Amino acid sequence: MFRIPKTHPRYKSLMKREKIVAGIEAGITSKQGLIAHGRGEAFDYLIGERTLPAAMRATEAAAALLLTAQKPVVISVNGNVAALVPERVIALGELLNAPLEVNIFYWTEERVMKIKEHLEQHGATNVLGAKADARIPGIEHARARVDYEGIYSADVVLAPLEDGDRCEALIAMGKKVVTIDLNPVSRTSKHATVSIVDDIERALKNLILMVKEQKKKGKVKILADYDNEDNLRAVINEIVKRLKEEELR
Ligand code: ATP
Ligand code: MG
Repeated sequence: MFRIPKTHPRYKSLMKREKIVAGIEAGITSKQGLIAHGRGEAFDYLIGERTLPAAMRATEAAAALLLTAQKPVVISVNGNVAALVPERVIALGELLNAPLEVNIFYWTEERVMKIKEHLEQHGATNVLGAKADARIPGIEHARARVDYEGIYSADVVLAPLEDGDRCEALIAMGKKVVTIDLNPVSRTSKHATVSIVDDIERALKNLILMVKEQKKKGKVKILADYDNEDNLRAVINEIVKRLKEEELR
């Protein structure tokens, strides 16, 4: 990995680029994933590369949903997620007793196995996705592959950086979907049950802290009045406000 000096003003962002590039070199991230990352970066710049108050509220709603799921929760992991935050998805999976499932848009068996091995090297013990013995209805062949005992049967799916089409199809199956997506107007963000409009590293860090705290208290803080559309509107307002302030400087 290229060495970025810690004093660089955009150190964190540059390190994420390095991780994505390393993911491509290791065969776990797709080339298209590089473009998706760039789209995310552009939104993160507009957001100010920090967690917005509305995103924090969405993260709280997500923590409650994940902790109160009836059937198992599954954490969907694609090539970008595996490259950027392997430790964090593993830590969250352990806290929630939720398996990770490799679920990629540009599906090849080889890449699924590479991601699975990569997660196992980081300490994951329950990684699904290699069976691919079920299909998400309404999605064309390869992209629809899931594990029957995993995403297919789950009640709540945490699907960060998900494709809009598949998010919609999971919702149509009656599942609750939590997504992490920096684009507040993506189809994924609009269709998910709870959309966290934040960078995946920051969002997972916050989510882990909240889940830990609520587990320690033995009480889940439910946000009964949470509405995803309202939250996305709040996010957009916060971004617009920030950009207007930026103009004045
Ligand atoms: P739609 O949801 O409208 O169908 P899409 O899912 O096809 O769009 P992609 O570019 O394929 O769009 O998906 C990548 C999404 O992930 C983008 O919306 C991008 O903003 C988001 N994204 C990329 N990197 C990150 C990241 N590090 N953290 C959070 N979100 C990210
Ligand atoms: Mg999307």
